[in-house]
Amino acid sequence: MNIHEYQAKELLAKFGVVVPRGHVAYTAAEAVEAARRHGGSAWVVKAQIHAGGRGKAGGVKLCRSEEEVAAAARSLLGKNLVTHQTGSAGREVKRVYVEEGCDIARELYLGLLIDRDTGRVTLIGSTEGGVEIEEVAARSPEKILKVAVDPASGIEPFHARNIAYGLGLEGSQIGVAVKFITALYKAFCELDASVVEINPLVVTGPGQLVALDAKMGFDDNALFRHPDIEALRDEDEEDPTELEAGKHALNYVKLDGNIGCMVNGAGLAMATMDIIKLHGGNPANFLDVGGGATRDRVATAFKLILSDPNVEGMLVNIFGGIMRCDVIAEGVVAAAREVNLHVPLVVRLEGTNVDLGKKILQQSGLPILAAENLADAAQKVVAAVKEAA
Ligand code: ADP
Ligand code: MG
Repeated sequence: MNIHEYQAKELLAKFGVVVPRGHVAYTAAEAVEAARRHGGSAWVVKAQIHAGGRGKAGGVKLCRSEEEVAAAARSLLGKNLVTHQTGSAGREVKRVYVEEGCDIARELYLGLLIDRDTGRVTLIGSTEGGVEIEEVAARSPEKILKVAVDPASGIEPFHARNIAYGLGLEGSQIGVAVKFITALYKAFCELDASVVEINPLVVTGPGQLVALDAKMGFDDNALFRHPDIEALRDEDEEDPTELEAGKHALNYVKLDGNIGCMVNGAGLAMATMDIIKLHGGNPANFLDVGGGATRDRVATAFKLILSDPNVEGMLVNIFGGIMRCDVIAEGVVAAAREVNLHVPLVVRLEGTNVDLGKKILQQSGLPILAAENLADAAQKVVAAVKEAA
Protein backbone atom coordinates (compact mmCIF):
# COMPACT_ATOMS: atom_id res chain seq x y z
CA MET A 1 0.00 0.00 0.00
CA ASN A 2 1.19 3.49 -0.83
CA ILE A 3 0.38 6.79 0.85
CA HIS A 4 0.54 10.44 -0.14
CA GLU A 5 3.62 12.62 0.22
CA TYR A 6 2.11 14.71 3.00
CA GLN A 7 1.14 11.61 4.97
CA ALA A 8 4.63 10.17 4.61
CA LYS A 9 6.12 13.45 5.78
CA GLU A 10 3.86 13.48 8.84
CA LEU A 11 4.85 9.92 9.73
CA LEU A 12 8.56 10.51 9.18
CA ALA A 13 8.54 13.75 11.18
CA LYS A 14 7.41 11.72 14.21
CA PHE A 15 10.65 9.78 13.93
CA GLY A 16 12.72 12.95 13.81
CA VAL A 17 13.15 13.28 10.03
CA VAL A 18 13.32 16.97 9.10
CA VAL A 19 10.57 18.01 6.67
CA PRO A 20 9.29 21.46 5.61
CA ARG A 21 6.17 22.75 7.33
CA GLY A 22 3.02 22.14 5.33
CA HIS A 23 -0.70 21.52 5.36
CA VAL A 24 -2.98 19.52 3.14
CA ALA A 25 -5.84 21.36 1.42
CA TYR A 26 -8.92 20.17 -0.45
CA THR A 27 -10.01 23.59 -1.75
CA ALA A 28 -8.31 26.79 -2.89
CA ALA A 29 -9.61 28.56 0.23
CA GLU A 30 -8.02 25.92 2.46
CA ALA A 31 -4.78 26.30 0.52
CA VAL A 32 -4.69 30.04 1.20
CA GLU A 33 -5.55 29.41 4.83
CA ALA A 34 -2.62 26.98 5.04
CA ALA A 35 -0.22 29.49 3.48
CA ARG A 36 -1.37 32.14 5.93
CA ARG A 37 -0.81 29.79 8.82
CA HIS A 38 2.85 29.24 7.86
CA GLY A 39 3.54 32.87 7.10
CA GLY A 40 6.62 33.56 5.00
CA SER A 41 6.74 34.82 1.45
CA ALA A 42 7.14 31.71 -0.71
CA TRP A 43 5.07 28.56 -0.81
CA VAL A 44 4.93 25.49 -2.95
CA VAL A 45 1.58 23.97 -3.88
CA LYS A 46 2.00 20.28 -4.64
CA ALA A 47 -0.52 17.92 -6.22
CA GLN A 48 -1.06 14.87 -4.01
CA ILE A 49 -1.32 11.75 -6.15
CA HIS A 50 0.36 8.39 -5.73
CA ALA A 51 2.82 8.99 -8.54
CA GLY A 52 6.14 10.68 -8.96
CA GLY A 53 7.24 13.01 -11.73
CA ARG A 54 4.82 15.69 -10.58
CA GLY A 55 7.41 18.45 -10.82
CA LYS A 56 8.05 17.93 -14.52
CA ALA A 57 4.33 17.57 -15.21
CA GLY A 58 3.39 20.91 -13.64
CA GLY A 59 2.12 19.41 -10.40
CA VAL A 60 4.49 21.42 -8.16
CA LYS A 61 3.96 25.16 -8.25
CA LEU A 62 6.07 27.83 -6.59
CA CYS A 63 3.95 30.76 -5.37
CA ARG A 64 4.94 34.17 -4.07
CA SER A 65 1.57 35.52 -2.92
CA GLU A 66 -1.70 34.29 -1.50
CA GLU A 67 -3.33 34.96 -4.87
CA GLU A 68 -0.78 32.72 -6.54
CA VAL A 69 -1.41 29.99 -3.95
CA ALA A 70 -5.16 30.18 -4.64
CA ALA A 71 -4.58 30.13 -8.41
CA ALA A 72 -2.17 27.19 -8.17
CA ALA A 73 -4.59 25.19 -6.02
CA ARG A 74 -7.46 25.98 -8.41
CA SER A 75 -5.41 24.94 -11.42
CA LEU A 76 -4.54 21.58 -9.84
CA LEU A 77 -7.63 20.51 -7.89
CA GLY A 78 -10.14 18.51 -9.87
CA LYS A 79 -7.78 18.23 -12.86
CA ASN A 80 -6.05 15.17 -14.19
CA LEU A 81 -2.31 15.23 -13.78
CA VAL A 82 -0.41 13.11 -16.27
CA THR A 83 3.12 12.19 -15.23
CA HIS A 84 5.38 9.52 -16.67
CA GLN A 85 4.26 7.29 -13.80
CA THR A 86 0.48 7.67 -14.13
CA GLY A 87 -0.09 6.30 -17.62
CA SER A 88 -1.80 8.41 -20.25
CA ALA A 89 -5.09 8.69 -18.37
CA GLY A 90 -3.39 10.51 -15.50
CA ARG A 91 -4.78 10.85 -11.99
CA GLU A 92 -7.31 13.27 -10.68
CA VAL A 93 -5.89 15.63 -8.08
CA LYS A 94 -8.22 15.73 -5.09
CA ARG A 95 -5.88 17.29 -2.56
CA VAL A 96 -2.88 19.55 -2.63
CA TYR A 97 -0.12 20.10 -0.12
CA VAL A 98 0.87 23.66 0.68
CA GLU A 99 4.41 23.74 1.89
CA GLU A 100 6.88 26.44 2.81
CA GLY A 101 9.24 27.26 -0.03
CA CYS A 102 12.68 25.87 0.49
CA ASP A 103 15.99 27.49 -0.38
CA ILE A 104 17.68 24.66 -2.27
CA ALA A 105 21.47 24.46 -2.59
CA ARG A 106 21.79 20.80 -3.59
CA GLU A 107 19.33 18.02 -4.42
CA LEU A 108 20.39 14.54 -3.32
CA TYR A 109 18.72 11.14 -3.34
CA LEU A 110 18.15 8.89 -0.36
CA GLY A 111 16.14 5.70 -0.41
CA LEU A 112 15.58 2.60 1.69
CA LEU A 113 14.30 -0.67 0.38
CA ILE A 114 14.64 -4.39 0.91
CA ASP A 115 17.26 -5.83 -1.39
CA ARG A 116 15.85 -9.18 -2.50
CA ASP A 117 19.31 -10.59 -3.20
CA THR A 118 20.72 -10.02 0.27
CA GLY A 119 17.41 -9.98 2.12
CA ARG A 120 18.54 -6.82 3.89
CA VAL A 121 17.24 -3.32 4.27
CA THR A 122 19.51 -1.33 2.02
CA LEU A 123 20.27 2.36 2.05
CA ILE A 124 20.60 3.90 -1.39
CA GLY A 125 22.22 7.27 -1.83
CA SER A 126 23.06 9.38 -4.83
CA THR A 127 24.30 12.88 -5.49
CA GLU A 128 21.87 12.93 -8.43
CA GLY A 129 18.73 13.98 -6.59
CA GLY A 130 15.53 15.28 -8.13
CA VAL A 131 15.76 12.92 -11.11
CA GLU A 132 14.43 9.40 -11.41
CA ILE A 133 16.80 7.01 -9.69
CA GLU A 134 16.12 4.41 -12.40
CA GLU A 135 17.49 6.89 -14.92
CA VAL A 136 20.62 7.46 -12.86
CA ALA A 137 21.07 3.71 -12.44
CA ALA A 138 20.86 3.21 -16.20
CA ARG A 139 23.01 6.20 -17.19
CA SER A 140 25.65 6.33 -14.46
CA PRO A 141 25.43 3.36 -12.13
CA GLU A 142 28.66 4.43 -10.41
CA LYS A 143 26.72 7.34 -8.92
CA ILE A 144 24.56 5.02 -6.84
CA LEU A 145 25.76 4.06 -3.39
CA LYS A 146 24.36 1.05 -1.62
CA VAL A 147 24.83 0.11 2.01
CA ALA A 148 23.12 -3.03 3.30
CA VAL A 149 22.22 -3.20 6.98
CA ASP A 150 22.53 -6.48 8.86
CA PRO A 151 19.15 -7.03 10.53
CA ALA A 152 20.81 -8.62 13.56
CA SER A 153 22.78 -5.50 14.47
CA GLY A 154 20.44 -2.93 12.95
CA ILE A 155 21.73 0.38 11.70
CA GLU A 156 25.11 1.57 12.98
CA PRO A 157 26.53 5.06 12.62
CA PHE A 158 29.10 3.84 10.07
CA HIS A 159 26.34 2.74 7.69
CA ALA A 160 24.93 6.23 7.70
CA ARG A 161 28.38 7.86 7.58
CA ASN A 162 29.27 5.89 4.45
CA ILE A 163 26.22 7.30 2.72
CA ALA A 164 26.80 10.80 4.11
CA TYR A 165 30.38 10.97 2.82
CA GLY A 166 29.29 9.51 -0.49
CA LEU A 167 26.73 12.29 -0.82
CA GLY A 168 29.53 14.83 -0.47
CA LEU A 169 28.37 16.11 2.89
CA GLU A 170 30.96 17.52 5.23
CA GLY A 171 31.67 18.93 8.68
CA SER A 172 28.69 19.13 11.00
CA GLN A 173 26.43 17.90 8.19
CA ILE A 174 27.79 14.39 8.71
CA GLY A 175 26.38 14.15 12.22
CA VAL A 176 23.10 15.62 11.07
CA ALA A 177 22.93 13.13 8.19
CA VAL A 178 23.63 10.22 10.54
CA LYS A 179 20.67 11.27 12.70
CA PHE A 180 18.52 11.77 9.62
CA ILE A 181 19.35 8.39 8.08
CA THR A 182 19.02 6.58 11.41
CA ALA A 183 15.57 8.12 11.90
CA LEU A 184 14.54 7.00 8.41
CA TYR A 185 15.77 3.47 9.08
CA LYS A 186 13.85 3.31 12.35
CA ALA A 187 10.70 4.52 10.62
CA PHE A 188 11.20 1.96 7.85
CA CYS A 189 11.49 -0.96 10.27
CA GLU A 190 8.95 0.06 12.88
CA LEU A 191 6.29 0.86 10.29
CA ASP A 192 6.96 -2.27 8.19
CA ALA A 193 7.64 -0.17 5.12
CA SER A 194 8.71 -1.76 1.86
CA VAL A 195 10.13 1.42 0.40
CA VAL A 196 10.99 4.90 1.61
CA GLU A 197 12.25 7.36 -0.95
CA ILE A 198 13.43 10.89 -0.25
CA ASN A 199 13.93 12.46 -3.65
CA PRO A 200 15.15 15.08 -3.34
CA LEU A 201 16.89 15.18 -0.02
CA VAL A 202 17.91 18.79 0.01
CA VAL A 203 20.85 20.68 1.39
CA THR A 204 19.47 24.16 2.02
CA GLY A 205 21.31 27.44 1.53
CA PRO A 206 22.20 27.58 5.24
CA GLY A 207 23.38 23.92 5.08
CA GLN A 208 20.41 22.14 6.69
CA LEU A 209 19.24 18.73 5.49
CA VAL A 210 15.54 18.54 4.60
CA ALA A 211 13.33 15.83 3.10
CA LEU A 212 11.68 17.81 0.30
CA ASP A 213 9.76 14.88 -1.11
CA ALA A 214 8.77 11.64 0.58
CA LYS A 215 7.35 8.47 -0.81
CA MET A 216 6.43 5.47 1.35
CA GLY A 217 5.12 2.04 0.51
CA PHE A 218 4.12 -0.58 3.05
CA ASP A 219 4.15 -4.33 3.21
CA ASP A 220 0.49 -5.30 2.83
CA ASN A 221 1.06 -8.44 4.86
CA ALA A 222 2.06 -6.37 7.88
CA LEU A 223 -0.70 -3.79 7.67
CA PHE A 224 -2.76 -5.61 10.28
CA ARG A 225 -0.16 -4.41 12.77
CA HIS A 226 -0.66 -0.79 11.76
CA PRO A 227 -4.33 0.22 11.74
CA ASP A 228 -3.25 3.87 11.80
CA ILE A 229 -1.42 3.41 8.51
CA GLU A 230 -4.21 1.32 7.01
CA ALA A 231 -6.44 4.30 7.78
CA LEU A 232 -4.33 6.43 5.42
CA ARG A 233 -5.36 4.29 2.46
CA ASP A 234 -6.74 6.44 -0.35
CA GLU A 235 -9.04 4.19 -2.35
CA ASP A 236 -9.26 6.80 -5.11
CA GLU A 237 -5.62 6.04 -5.87
CA GLU A 238 -6.09 2.30 -6.19
CA ASP A 239 -7.29 0.25 -9.10
CA PRO A 240 -10.99 -0.47 -8.39
CA THR A 241 -10.70 -4.09 -9.54
CA GLU A 242 -7.64 -4.70 -7.37
CA LEU A 243 -9.50 -3.16 -4.45
CA GLU A 244 -12.48 -5.43 -4.99
CA ALA A 245 -10.15 -8.43 -5.32
CA GLY A 246 -8.46 -7.54 -2.04
CA LYS A 247 -11.83 -7.64 -0.30
CA HIS A 248 -12.24 -11.26 -1.47
CA ALA A 249 -8.67 -12.22 -0.57
CA LEU A 250 -7.80 -12.76 -4.23
CA ASN A 251 -4.35 -11.94 -5.52
CA TYR A 252 -5.16 -9.85 -8.57
CA VAL A 253 -2.91 -7.49 -10.45
CA LYS A 254 -4.27 -5.61 -13.44
CA LEU A 255 -2.13 -5.56 -16.57
CA ASP A 256 -2.45 -3.94 -19.98
CA GLY A 257 -3.37 -6.91 -22.21
CA ASN A 258 -6.67 -8.43 -23.33
CA ILE A 259 -6.51 -12.06 -22.17
CA GLY A 260 -7.99 -12.60 -18.74
CA CYS A 261 -6.24 -15.29 -16.70
CA MET A 262 -7.65 -17.29 -13.82
CA VAL A 263 -5.05 -19.58 -12.37
CA ASN A 264 -4.35 -21.30 -9.08
CA GLY A 265 -0.94 -20.77 -7.57
CA ALA A 266 1.32 -17.78 -8.11
CA GLY A 267 3.96 -19.79 -9.96
CA LEU A 268 1.50 -21.28 -12.41
CA ALA A 269 -0.07 -17.84 -12.86
CA MET A 270 3.35 -16.41 -13.80
CA ALA A 271 4.01 -19.30 -16.16
CA THR A 272 0.60 -18.82 -17.75
CA MET A 273 1.30 -15.16 -18.42
CA ASP A 274 4.68 -16.06 -19.89
CA ILE A 275 3.28 -18.66 -22.23
CA ILE A 276 0.49 -16.36 -23.41
CA LYS A 277 3.22 -13.86 -24.31
CA LEU A 278 5.24 -16.58 -25.97
CA HIS A 279 2.34 -17.31 -28.27
CA GLY A 280 1.85 -13.68 -29.19
CA GLY A 281 -0.88 -12.68 -26.75
CA ASN A 282 -1.01 -10.23 -23.85
CA PRO A 283 -2.36 -11.06 -20.39
CA ALA A 284 -4.95 -8.66 -18.96
CA ASN A 285 -4.16 -9.61 -15.41
CA PHE A 286 -2.38 -11.82 -12.94
CA LEU A 287 -4.79 -13.73 -10.76
CA ASP A 288 -4.13 -16.46 -8.26
CA VAL A 289 -7.35 -17.87 -6.81
CA GLY A 290 -5.38 -19.57 -4.07
CA GLY A 291 -5.37 -23.12 -2.85
CA GLY A 292 -8.52 -23.37 -0.80
CA ALA A 293 -10.88 -21.38 -3.00
CA THR A 294 -14.61 -22.09 -2.76
CA ARG A 295 -17.05 -22.15 -5.64
CA ASP A 296 -18.18 -18.62 -4.72
CA ARG A 297 -14.67 -17.30 -4.63
CA VAL A 298 -13.94 -18.78 -8.04
CA ALA A 299 -17.13 -17.20 -9.36
CA THR A 300 -16.16 -13.83 -7.87
CA ALA A 301 -12.71 -14.06 -9.43
CA PHE A 302 -14.17 -14.93 -12.80
CA LYS A 303 -16.58 -12.01 -12.73
CA LEU A 304 -13.86 -9.67 -11.57
CA ILE A 305 -11.63 -10.57 -14.51
CA LEU A 306 -14.49 -10.10 -16.95
CA SER A 307 -15.39 -6.72 -15.49
CA ASP A 308 -12.22 -5.38 -17.11
CA PRO A 309 -13.45 -3.89 -20.41
CA ASN A 310 -10.14 -4.78 -22.08
CA VAL A 311 -10.70 -8.51 -21.68
CA GLU A 312 -11.43 -10.13 -25.05
CA GLY A 313 -10.74 -13.70 -24.11
CA MET A 314 -10.35 -15.76 -20.99
CA LEU A 315 -8.01 -18.54 -19.99
CA VAL A 316 -8.70 -20.70 -16.96
CA ASN A 317 -5.65 -22.76 -16.10
CA ILE A 318 -5.99 -24.96 -13.04
CA PHE A 319 -3.77 -27.60 -11.65
CA GLY A 320 -5.88 -29.15 -8.93
CA GLY A 321 -3.69 -30.15 -6.06
CA ILE A 322 -5.31 -28.76 -2.97
CA MET A 323 -7.84 -27.09 -5.23
CA ARG A 324 -10.40 -29.49 -6.71
CA CYS A 325 -11.19 -29.26 -10.42
CA ASP A 326 -14.92 -29.80 -9.86
CA VAL A 327 -15.08 -26.82 -7.50
CA ILE A 328 -13.37 -24.67 -10.12
CA ALA A 329 -15.69 -25.93 -12.83
CA GLU A 330 -18.78 -25.19 -10.75
CA GLY A 331 -17.54 -21.68 -10.01
CA VAL A 332 -16.74 -21.00 -13.66
CA VAL A 333 -20.13 -22.28 -14.84
CA ALA A 334 -22.04 -20.28 -12.22
CA ALA A 335 -20.16 -17.08 -13.02
CA ALA A 336 -20.29 -17.54 -16.81
CA ARG A 337 -24.06 -17.94 -16.65
CA GLU A 338 -24.50 -14.98 -14.36
CA VAL A 339 -22.47 -12.54 -16.46
CA ASN A 340 -23.66 -13.88 -19.80
CA LEU A 341 -20.19 -14.77 -20.97
CA HIS A 342 -19.41 -12.69 -24.05
CA VAL A 343 -15.80 -13.65 -24.82
CA PRO A 344 -14.14 -16.92 -25.82
CA LEU A 345 -13.25 -19.10 -22.85
CA VAL A 346 -10.46 -21.65 -22.88
CA VAL A 347 -10.16 -24.03 -19.94
CA ARG A 348 -7.31 -26.32 -19.05
CA LEU A 349 -7.90 -28.52 -16.04
CA GLU A 350 -5.56 -31.07 -14.54
CA GLY A 351 -5.33 -32.82 -11.20
CA THR A 352 -7.76 -33.75 -8.45
CA ASN A 353 -11.27 -34.63 -9.72
CA VAL A 354 -10.33 -33.58 -13.24
CA ASP A 355 -12.84 -35.91 -14.91
CA LEU A 356 -15.67 -34.60 -12.80
CA GLY A 357 -14.58 -31.05 -13.53
CA LYS A 358 -14.52 -31.66 -17.28
CA LYS A 359 -17.94 -33.28 -17.12
CA ILE A 360 -19.43 -30.28 -15.32
CA LEU A 361 -18.03 -27.98 -18.01
CA GLN A 362 -19.24 -30.17 -20.88
CA GLN A 363 -22.74 -30.51 -19.45
CA SER A 364 -23.05 -26.79 -18.82
CA GLY A 365 -23.74 -26.11 -22.48
CA LEU A 366 -21.37 -23.16 -22.38
CA PRO A 367 -19.14 -22.60 -25.44
CA ILE A 368 -15.95 -23.65 -23.70
CA LEU A 369 -12.79 -24.57 -25.60
CA ALA A 370 -11.08 -27.40 -23.76
CA ALA A 371 -7.28 -27.44 -23.82
CA GLU A 372 -4.98 -30.39 -23.37
CA ASN A 373 -2.02 -28.66 -21.79
CA LEU A 374 -0.55 -25.28 -21.01
CA ALA A 375 0.86 -24.58 -24.48
CA ASP A 376 -2.32 -25.76 -26.16
CA ALA A 377 -4.38 -23.53 -23.85
CA ALA A 378 -2.28 -20.46 -24.63
CA GLN A 379 -2.38 -21.10 -28.39
CA LYS A 380 -6.12 -21.62 -28.31
CA VAL A 381 -6.93 -18.47 -26.38
CA VAL A 382 -4.60 -16.31 -28.48
CA ALA A 383 -6.17 -17.70 -31.67
CA ALA A 384 -9.72 -17.29 -30.34
CA VAL A 385 -9.13 -13.66 -29.42
CA LYS A 386 -7.65 -12.92 -32.86
CA GLU A 387 -10.59 -14.57 -34.53
CA ALA A 388 -13.14 -12.69 -32.45
CA ALA A 389 -11.49 -9.33 -33.19
P1 ADP B 1 8.03 14.81 -7.87
O1 ADP B 1 9.10 13.87 -7.42
O2 ADP B 1 6.70 14.15 -7.95
O3 ADP B 1 8.39 15.54 -9.11
P2 ADP B 1 8.92 16.58 -5.73
O4 ADP B 1 8.27 16.75 -4.40
O5 ADP B 1 10.20 15.85 -5.75
O6 ADP B 1 7.85 15.94 -6.72
O7 ADP B 1 9.12 18.04 -6.35
C1 ADP B 1 9.75 18.25 -7.59
C2 ADP B 1 10.74 19.39 -7.47
O8 ADP B 1 10.08 20.56 -7.02
C3 ADP B 1 11.84 19.12 -6.44
O9 ADP B 1 12.91 18.43 -7.01
C4 ADP B 1 12.22 20.51 -6.03
O10 ADP B 1 13.16 21.06 -6.95
C5 ADP B 1 10.92 21.30 -6.16
N1 ADP B 1 10.26 21.44 -4.83
C6 ADP B 1 9.46 20.54 -4.22
N2 ADP B 1 9.06 20.97 -3.00
C7 ADP B 1 9.62 22.17 -2.83
C8 ADP B 1 9.61 23.15 -1.75
N3 ADP B 1 8.93 22.96 -0.62
N4 ADP B 1 10.33 24.28 -1.95
C9 ADP B 1 11.04 24.49 -3.08
N5 ADP B 1 11.09 23.64 -4.10
C10 ADP B 1 10.40 22.48 -4.01
MG1 MG C 1 10.41 13.72 -5.97
